[in-house]
Amino acid sequence: MNIGIWVLGDQLWHRQAAITTAPENTPIIIIESLAHIQQRPYHQQKLVLVWSAMRHFAAELRQQGKTVTYYEAAPNFATPLSEWVNLHQIQELRIMAPNDRPFLDKINHLQLPCKITIIPNNQFIWSETEFKQWASPRKRLLMEDFYREGRRRFNILMDGNKPIGGNWNFDKENRQPPKGKIAPPAPLWSEPDPITQAVISQVKSLHHIPTYGAASPFRWGVTREQALAVLDYFITYQLPDFGPYQDAMVTGQETMWHSLIAPYLNIGLLQPLEVITAAETAYHQRQLSLNSVEGFIRQVLGWREYMRGVYLYVDDDYANGNWFNHHHPLPDFFWDASQTDMNCLHQVLSQVERTGYAHHIQRLMVLSNFALIAGLSPQAVESWFHSAFIDAYDWVMQTNVMGMGLFADGGILASKPYAASANYIHKMSDYCGNCAYNYKLKTGAKACPFNFFYWDFLHRHRERLQKQGRISFILKNLDRMSEEELEEIRTLARNWHREQE
Ligand code: SF4
Repeated sequence: MNIGIWVLGDQLWHRQAAITTAPENTPIIIIESLAHIQQRPYHQQKLVLVWSAMRHFAAELRQQGKTVTYYEAAPNFATPLSEWVNLHQIQELRIMAPNDRPFLDKINHLQLPCKITIIPNNQFIWSETEFKQWASPRKRLLMEDFYREGRRRFNILMDGNKPIGGNWNFDKENRQPPKGKIAPPAPLWSEPDPITQAVISQVKSLHHIPTYGAASPFRWGVTREQALAVLDYFITYQLPDFGPYQDAMVTGQETMWHSLIAPYLNIGLLQPLEVITAAETAYHQRQLSLNSVEGFIRQVLGWREYMRGVYLYVDDDYANGNWFNHHHPLPDFFWDASQTDMNCLHQVLSQVERTGYAHHIQRLMVLSNFALIAGLSPQAVESWFHSAFIDAYDWVMQTNVMGMGLFADGGILASKPYAASANYIHKMSDYCGNCAYNYKLKTGAKACPFNFFYWDFLHRHRERLQKQGRISFILKNLDRMSEEELEEIRTLARNWHREQE
């Protein structure tokens, strides 16, 4: 039987299952689809990253002697696939299971003159079956339980049956506010080579296709070699001090001690277990602090694997969740940071416009938190995140934004809504010192919108939040508020939306 392999744009790994399970000389096809990039206005940096990485990967496969057919900017996937299947008289097309469920649906609806075989995905530490076996007997899918099981199962940072250092978690040491002079190391960026420069020009010329952000300056790596260099740089210069300030936000310090490897992990240029092994080896060989190493490993072995597992475990309707019944549209400033005078949002959104990147607390406690307390539609917010971030995919954003950020799933994933007033942003950043609003005020002309929306949110959802043990004690503060103050807060929240709409 003539077999062919279709390698998808987020499966750029030589050891991916469709390649390794096929005979050595099996022809491979890789396709850039113009129809696919019109599903949403993707960030131009993301388009450059993925297309350039695909072109580099095809070149590497050819250097290894593989037969690769590459379609640049094809109108869609179906047309080149049919042509290629006919040309090579392919009888069986093999595809490693896509990470995103809508893409599997797309594959299942392809009309091709050959059989299609989906090979189980091997780009995550936990297989889909393993996660389901872990999850199915449980009432609650707690990340902490999953993470501990992962530590034991893969023998990561373990001392026999016990966690190294005696604790599973050192979060208390990892929440330092950015006080005093903060001097993180400069991140390692890459220079665009001629292939990437050609993609940048091509993306800039996509005038007929809606996109977001800017294609240049483009500084991301696009090959496995460059991704490994970024990993090595992180382990050497950033991981030793990663922990303490991992939640801090500082103007002009966009990357702090963060690794910047998610875009590479999410397209297959790096593998999660090799990243964890590199961090654990550095811990043992260089005596790095455990709070930094454990904090980083928790993000990859814990959060990343958990989010993907939950995504595959819940049903398709997860995407339609709206537990708080929030329907306000996305304000225009999400697409144009210059349109907001809230400094925290302005800083984070303009950074995303330029780079496609923001770190986890900027995403969770500035962007998602605002969307949650202001009552924005979860579907509109998730869709924006998917457009805006260089590492965004359906499997990442459904769980991170709908579940973690917006509590739209009613608590399948998060144990409480991540709602916070300006106090949190003031404590963990330097944004409030340079803002048109006063972080201390919840009423009056200078009241910070994070404050009046926070109290309005608590008031609107009082009954539902009362049942959330971890947030119910905050409602006591709401009860102490005078009728007049609460009414002014509600009016400010209503008027804010009126001005936007
Ligand atoms: Fe953001 Fe409010 Fe602080 Fe301004 S005062 S930066 S809007 S939290």
